[in-house]
Amino acid sequence: MHLSTRLSNEAASRTAEAGRAESGNIVRALPRRAHPLHAQLLEIVESTSDFVAIADGGGWLHYLNGVGRAMLGLSEGEEIAGLHLTDFYSEAESRRLLAEAFPAAQRDGAWQGDSVLRLAGARELNVAQTVLAHGEPHAGVAMFSTIARDISERKHFAEELKRQTSHDALTGLPNRLALEEHMDMVLARARRDRTHAAAILLDLDNFKRINDSLGHLAGNTLLRDVALRLKSCLRPNDIIVRYGDDEFTIVLGELHSAASLLPMMHKLRAALEPPLAAAGQEVFIDFSAGIAIFPHDGAAPLELLQNADAALNRAKATGRNQHQFYQPEINARGQQLLSLETDLRRALERAEFVLHYQPQYHICSGSIAGFEALLRWQHPTRGLVSPAEFIPLLEETGLIVAVGEWALRRACAESRLLRGACGTPVPVSVNVSARQFGDHRLVDELRRILRDEAMPPEDLELEITESVIMQDVQAAGDILEALGALGVRLAIDDFGTGYSSLAYLKRFPLNALKIDRMFIQDLPWDENDATIAEASISLGHKLGLEVIAEGVETEEQLQFLRAHGCDMVQGYYFGHPMPPESVALFPLLCGIAAAPAA
Ligand code: C2E
Ligand code: MG
Ligand code: MG
Repeated sequence: MHLSTRLSNEAASRTAEAGRAESGNIVRALPRRAHPLHAQLLEIVESTSDFVAIADGGGWLHYLNGVGRAMLGLSEGEEIAGLHLTDFYSEAESRRLLAEAFPAAQRDGAWQGDSVLRLAGARELNVAQTVLAHGEPHAGVAMFSTIARDISERKHFAEELKRQTSHDALTGLPNRLALEEHMDMVLARARRDRTHAAAILLDLDNFKRINDSLGHLAGNTLLRDVALRLKSCLRPNDIIVRYGDDEFTIVLGELHSAASLLPMMHKLRAALEPPLAAAGQEVFIDFSAGIAIFPHDGAAPLELLQNADAALNRAKATGRNQHQFYQPEINARGQQLLSLETDLRRALERAEFVLHYQPQYHICSGSIAGFEALLRWQHPTRGLVSPAEFIPLLEETGLIVAVGEWALRRACAESRLLRGACGTPVPVSVNVSARQFGDHRLVDELRRILRDEAMPPEDLELEITESVIMQDVQAAGDILEALGALGVRLAIDDFGTGYSSLAYLKRFPLNALKIDRMFIQDLPWDENDATIAEASISLGHKLGLEVIAEGVETEEQLQFLRAHGCDMVQGYYFGHPMPPESVALFPLLCGIAAAPAA
């Protein structure tokens, strides 16, 4: 009888009696005329470490070797009559073999593949199995034999390898590799059930600082604890993945609305609220998060992750401990920034930066007091790009250090032109960015520039914004001392915006204070601004500093500043920033510009 027919009709055909009638031992099963090598073959089969069994065309067992008996928990002499090949497998596995292995062996003579044997005590064993069909051509299958080899080691090794490549060694969480696979599954389910899914990208705030101050071991402990706490908030089908050093990605499926995410965000924050312990200290950890929701914010895993990342960047930019949902315009802006960044990287090599110069005047005499050098980017297709647009990007990418150095050198070189135009030495002011100011090479670099360009140090003024100085007053004090020692002038820019501590201002070797345009624009009508401008002037004078007002646009503003003793002014009322070529015509401009102050 055909094996599969037999199996499908198993209840009827498989009685112990029938089994016994058909089964016997190997001697009876093998061809009656004993082969001369029969004894030796039997010895080999008995001594192999593989499982070997022989069954008739219906699958009833006729022979099982010693290893097979041991695996199935049968003693040496125990009767195998009544055992069927399918008894060695779970129901599902035997169904698979019946559909796949035995028909293939019947058709091709042999089948090879992996399967799982069910051993004594319900243990399972991974095996590489061969099924052979024996019979005369065209006479159907008379016998089946099968050989199975234990491959559990190999399987275990392969699984471990898979686990290692798909998991993060530190936290034991799945990693990026596993993420996409899981997301495919979650999105397919959401598509089918018409529900939502979400990708949450989560970045620990200030983790790098904690890591640096407590050490990497403590950092690792924290990451493991954070991973555990976050994971404890999730449902069994959700996944959390370690995405980068201190970044995690959470994927949630089966959401009925975007709003159902909010309780989850709350839960995640609450989980990290109690302090963590590391290196004998209590550590508080917050996170910023970006959220993208399927299907609105992306139909494929990669798109969702990218959009969650854009939202995360916005969350980080709005301050720590925030979460943001993706908004398409962020991405458009992101694309724009990306292309701007690529262009910026080339701008210095292609000499696309230029400096424009805006004049500054002494209020009393109306004479020229100096020029402020302001960076411009002559973009090949966008035209003149404003510094407000590209300086933050230069800062972020670190390119500001090279560009800032270029600006310093260029301003010194072009100051000769300014000197020639005005017929007298005029100081030139150059803005120094936060990143440049924090770079220890600044002082040496500046010394070299002054020497190379034969620039009298007293004709160069560095403008450093108040907020930069106040970020780390100790370090700022040291740098300002070193810069002052070179003989250059130092001005505090955008004064009034950075909450200066007077005690520090007094100690720094500053020469000038520039009142921010914000407090000038509504003078003299706005009472608050008037008070601030007035107080800034008197404070500057008390500290022995020259005071300059920037952004002066009207006669009224000038009158107010003059009345309150401001020393210098700069603004569109007197002159816009201009390219160096225009500075060559300066004596003419000088006369016109000085008129209001005369
Ligand atoms: P800042 O140093 O406070 O420069 C003054 C800004 O006010 C300049 O803008 C100038 O064009 C503008 N301004 C001058 N007078 C008036 C006025 O009457 N009305 C109005 N509305 N604006 C006036 P700009 O050139 O766009 O520069 C913006 C900022 O970019 C600068 O602010 C400075 O912080 C930064 N920056 C410019 N050049 C450089 C540079 O070479 N290096 C660094 N690190 N930063 C620079
Ligand atoms: Mg400035
Ligand atoms: Mg300013």
